Amino acid sequence: MQKHLVIIGGVAAGTKAAAKARRESPDMKITLYTESKYISYSACGMPYYIEDLIKDEKRLIVRTPEYFKDREDIDIHIKHKVTRILPEEYRVEVENLETGEKFSDEYSKLLIATGSRAFVPDIEGVKLQNVFVLKDIDDAVEIKKSLKHSKKVVIVGGGYIGLELLESFQAHGIDLIMIDRSSQILNTFDLDMTSNIQKYLIEEKNINIITNESLKKLIGDNKDSVKQVETSEGKLIDTDMVILALGVRPNIELAKDAGIEIGETGAIKVNERMQTNFPDIFAAGDCVETINTVTGKNVWIPLGSTANKMGRIAAINITGRYEEFKGITGSMVVKIFDYTASKTGLSEKEAKDLGYDYVIAILMHRDKSGYMPDAKEIIIKMIAEKSSGRILGAQIIGKGDADKRVNVVAAALTANMTVEEFMGIDLTYAPPYSPSIDPILVAAQMLYSKLKKEVGSITPEELQEYLKEKESVAIIDIRTPSEFKEWHIENSQNSSFEELEEKLGQVNRETILCCEGGMESYLLTLQLMEKGYQNIRFVDGGTNFLRNIF
Ligand SMILES: Cc1cc2nc3c(=O)[nH]c(=O)nc-3n(C[C@H](O)[C@H](O)[C@H](O)COP(=O)(O)OP(=O)(O)OC[C@H]3O[C@@H](n4cnc5c(N)ncnc54)[C@H](O)[C@@H]3O)c2cc1C
Repeated sequence: MQKHLVIIGGVAAGTKAAAKARRESPDMKITLYTESKYISYSACGMPYYIEDLIKDEKRLIVRTPEYFKDREDIDIHIKHKVTRILPEEYRVEVENLETGEKFSDEYSKLLIATGSRAFVPDIEGVKLQNVFVLKDIDDAVEIKKSLKHSKKVVIVGGGYIGLELLESFQAHGIDLIMIDRSSQILNTFDLDMTSNIQKYLIEEKNINIITNESLKKLIGDNKDSVKQVETSEGKLIDTDMVILALGVRPNIELAKDAGIEIGETGAIKVNERMQTNFPDIFAAGDCVETINTVTGKNVWIPLGSTANKMGRIAAINITGRYEEFKGITGSMVVKIFDYTASKTGLSEKEAKDLGYDYVIAILMHRDKSGYMPDAKEIIIKMIAEKSSGRILGAQIIGKGDADKRVNVVAAALTANMTVEEFMGIDLTYAPPYSPSIDPILVAAQMLYSKLKKEVGSITPEELQEYLKEKESVAIIDIRTPSEFKEWHIENSQNSSFEELEEKLGQVNRETILCCEGGMESYLLTLQLMEKGYQNIRFVDGGTNFLRNIF
């Protein structure tokens, strides 16, 4: 009998699996049901369509149902909702959303790729006109249409989708306010890193960002269109449009009702072959959880990069070969105007919460040889386990090339490398691409010196606390006199490199060096310690980070 693969869901995981299953098995019957009217589209491209970099929404569609039928012999049924899975009977119940017709379809293998849905809070006013989420192409089209009549937009949620939309909207001359209930935007990163992004958005992009306040209610005008947002602190903000960018939830109800096991994160539990607790039912994409290979713990991090890989591996196993999806390290990147924020592995706060004993290195560095006219700053924060020296993660942000360095760390995390091993990686060099020692290797060297206790440092937060108890600490700022004049920590002294040793002799007490980005003061501390100075440390991240706190 001909084998029949039924797939539920037709975006990243579903269509990737359909195409791969066809390549693996030319004879299998493949049917895909999706309740949406679009398949195989790039949700990730929607902010750029709204910005108008991409004029036509159809450009976001990678493959059409006709392509799948004509070229791959795959039957795609759009606007068809699978309403029930009956695992014992190997069949699904389906409803045609256009005609209302209900029917049943038998499968030999089933793939659940039902993805996720945007979270909409249960508050007054969410059903008003001009209140949107951005999850599929229809949302993007409606948002773009409404933009034409809007001057002011409130984005609720400072995650990566909300942040991408800032640029999309500002390109249309829209006034923007972002609200986030936590104390920072992009809260999978550390606060010291996102403070830099927040400062950039406020100072250079004129975005009004309100943190520590949540959305209380939405107030409409006499045409039921949103006109005001009320925050938890009682602020009333006038607006023409509201975007709810509050994250997504896994679509697991169909699977759960069928007795498919749900994992501890609330998403579908699968093994490394993407198999559920029913051996002939597989699941992939945003609806499943996976393992964070750095911690070995289950995580749910819904991303298109992961959904595609999972879809491919599910198809290989469904069609009879063996391949494992080993998990993720949690890599992500987001473009925030001309600023990049990228991350892989653990942030410092995640490492702290999980009880790791760790060391961090923070430095600001040019992404190319400093003399190149287009060299730009990046800020790197790298973290390693104290006892083993194993790398735990990195965050890299800035206007320079950040993500190519985070990708190197992602590879190192996958190989479970120590900092010492990482320092030996043979990275490329030419002035237009990087300094002679790539900044990520410099960060690793700094981390290594700290692990080996060749040098000591203090974070800006620790310094703030430390200064409350210890008045006798000398803070020496080695930036130029004009930089020092523009801003410095109270009671700090300015010194040039040349005068530094003389100054150290004069202060003769515990000394903390600071520079602009952490790099020069680290090197100087190292040199001075080699010369026998003991009571000396440097500030992680330098004045660039101190300014956000002091
Ligand atoms: C604006 C935006 C920007 C993004 N940017 C990035 C990015 O830059 N990088 C990145 O890695 N990721 C990004 N993502 C996330 C990425 O788009 C998702 O991770 C990816 O789409 C997940 O694919 P999926 O196939 O698992 O699920 P989904 O895309 O959620 O698709 C699931 C499909 O299943 C259908 N379905 C659900 N239940 C049923 C049912 N019962 N019957 C029939 N059909 C059903 C749904 O209608 C939907 O069409 C972005 C997402 C958005 C919204």
